[in-house]
Amino acid sequence: MSDHTTLLITISGRDRPGLSAQVFDALGGDVMDVGQSVLQDRLVLLILLRLPPDDVASLTRSLQAVAAELDLDVDISVTDGSDERHRGVRHHITVLASPLAPRHVSAVSRAVASSGGNIERIDRVAGYPVTAVEFVTAHADPDALRTAVTDTAREEGIDVSIQPAGLDRFGRRLVVLDVDSTLIQDEVIELLAARTGNIDAVAEITERAMRGEIDFASSLTERVALLRGAPESVIDEARAQVRLTPGARTLCRTLMRLGHEVALVSGGFAEVVEPLAEQLGVRHVRANRLEVHDGRLTGRVAGPIVDRAGKADALRGFAAELGIPLERTVAIGDGANDLDMMSAAGLGVAFNAKPLVRQAADTSVNVPFLDSVLFLLGIHREDIEAADADGGIPGSAAGYGEVGQDR
Ligand SMILES: [Mg+2]
Repeated sequence: MSDHTTLLITISGRDRPGLSAQVFDALGGDVMDVGQSVLQDRLVLLILLRLPPDDVASLTRSLQAVAAELDLDVDISVTDGSDERHRGVRHHITVLASPLAPRHVSAVSRAVASSGGNIERIDRVAGYPVTAVEFVTAHADPDALRTAVTDTAREEGIDVSIQPAGLDRFGRRLVVLDVDSTLIQDEVIELLAARTGNIDAVAEITERAMRGEIDFASSLTERVALLRGAPESVIDEARAQVRLTPGARTLCRTLMRLGHEVALVSGGFAEVVEPLAEQLGVRHVRANRLEVHDGRLTGRVAGPIVDRAGKADALRGFAAELGIPLERTVAIGDGANDLDMMSAAGLGVAFNAKPLVRQAADTSVNVPFLDSVLFLLGIHREDIEAADADGGIPGSAAGYGEVGQDR
């Protein structure tokens, strides 16, 4: 006979101050594991306890006395004492939905089970502006889990990201953002074309590019050519019209507070992207530049074109320069020309993208709030709000300002 007995103690009931302290005061032996969860005013507390067999009877009596006093339900069962928790391959699965329905949780749970995994924990990451919950799973076959979860997301119309657990989750990250229709709600080339009377011609080329009839570089060259002769002032006018995507400031501010790096990589124009970057405190920018001669646009792009491959090169270049491994990079974009950087990145996020882009990405966000990406990285809404209320984490680069302007 073993010289120890392992008990699994399950306690549930109405939470109140000092409850956990009183419960643990009633225990002896060694605490092998513990988990507690509180929702509203209800508590569930699980304790794995190892103690000499002779002590089990007295422990049971004192625990029952505390339970009676605090009006708690207690279940005590003997287990084999194996410690399976935190063993094997673990994953973090984040689900974003607005609203979150019970069938969404059931579908994700079924996907985990079908890949041989167990759910260790489910926690809420955000309740606003979307509901975000994170599942921590163990033992799932990674490929089977990825396929099952991706199918579930598509079938249920919810956003689901899956990332392996491990130290990479805690390291410094590089988050690379596309600009047009990602960081901002506009397409700057269209704002420019609207001011030069070429909106229809530009839109037609954009459509052809979207249908895959021409590549991004050709479509950019053709569209910029239509701006030839326009006064340089149209750039300032277009810049004044640009609208940030809701959550853009919160995303950049929060990432930088946590010591992560943010880069803007755009097939659009540096003349618009650089001032935006400065406003957001972002130090890394790669974008095209409009050639200007005698105060007029020449209709050409100055220097090499930042296209689909150029965006991926920019991501790899910034990562190398900053000493951040590619596994810890995140690329967020909406267009086909973001696909290379999204596949080069550790996590590629399709942001309100076309189906083609969504299918190719690791995950997608289909709510119009850019800060939802923070939830995919396991950053809780409550912590973001607390940091904004405090003006930042002590000793960090606080004070990007505009708290509240951007939710
Ligand atoms: Mg875009």
